[in-house]
Amino acid sequence: MTVSQTAPLIDPFARAITYLRVSVTDRCDFRCVYCMSEHMTFLPKKELLTLEELDRLCTAFIDMGVEKLRITGGEPLVRRDIITFFQAMSRHLDSGSLKELTLTTNGSQLEKYAEALYAAGVRRVNISLDTLNEEKFARVTRWGRLPQVLRGIDAAQKAGLRVKINAVALKGFNEEELPAITRWCAERNLDLTWIEVMPMGEDIDPANRIGQYWSLKDVRAEYENHYTVTDLAERSGGPARYVRLEESGQKIGFITPLSHNFCESCNRVRVTCTGEIYTCLGQEGSADLRAPLRASSDGAGLLKDAIRAAIGDKPKGHDFDYSRQEVGGQMTRHMSHTGG
Ligand code: SAM
Ligand code: SF4
Repeated sequence: MTVSQTAPLIDPFARAITYLRVSVTDRCDFRCVYCMSEHMTFLPKKELLTLEELDRLCTAFIDMGVEKLRITGGEPLVRRDIITFFQAMSRHLDSGSLKELTLTTNGSQLEKYAEALYAAGVRRVNISLDTLNEEKFARVTRWGRLPQVLRGIDAAQKAGLRVKINAVALKGFNEEELPAITRWCAERNLDLTWIEVMPMGEDIDPANRIGQYWSLKDVRAEYENHYTVTDLAERSGGPARYVRLEESGQKIGFITPLSHNFCESCNRVRVTCTGEIYTCLGQEGSADLRAPLRASSDGAGLLKDAIRAAIGDKPKGHDFDYSRQEVGGQMTRHMSHTGG
């Protein structure tokens, strides 16, 4: 039986794939300690998909039922001319095939680009921020400067973008800042999600990484010391779970890839800036879409067959596990490669 080129993408476990995350560069203007080593070697530019190729790739996925597109990296906003890519993708919002175009960013370039992103149809943005202390921010990002990011957040809100702050929960680093970060988000009408640190990267030190691991169960318990915490049933089709803080009315998200298995509802796949598709963040398996993309100038045919074949191999779930006091299911690739 031949499958129509535009039939929805359904994986072997009956999960419809409607969410694509695309890393548009492996480069970044920060060097966060849990994400990159200080002296990274980046890919030669010729290995990256061009913006025109990224457009054809995303368009093929959208033809096949992807409704939500998140642009990430590395730092997506350091890629030259990336705004033209957002502008081009807005045609899929206009046609109604794409429901949401969004991005995850460190915020450093938002002062420059927030208005253009809004004009291209972006309505929400995730900004990563682990601490409100300038010295600690410089330590965790190595190269980042907090005031620049805060100006970026202000610019995003001024442009009309809904902002969600993503904070990586790091033991002994931002534990005591939890009430301050939470209050700061409430005052500025920012959503907040905590992320458990994941065992990524080849220079990971298992002993140290476990030291950095602050379980979101403990983060939740810390909230209970300050607030009345109500679990919310709502799920976003992804790894986040939500609670409401009754005193402030805030909804707080928890992304718990380690302590909670969310794979059964996984609706997403990731594509790297070189056109590799990863159908599971926690498994090494990937497939190449760049060769079929470059061989099929109309974006159909070979490329769509390759996408469908990759989805047909999507694993049931991942194997991350800290429970035995060793890092199980550890990955050797950096988060900046697959974009988180
Ligand atoms: N540069 C952008 C940013 O920082 O938002 C986008 C790419 S970054 C790889 C995407 C997300 O992954 C960020 O929120 C970052 O904090 C998170 N991240 C990176 N390494 C991580 C790790 N080892 N464990 C958990 N989250 C990680
Ligand atoms: Fe760059 Fe984002 Fe990785 Fe930090 S988490 S080094 S900002 S890609």
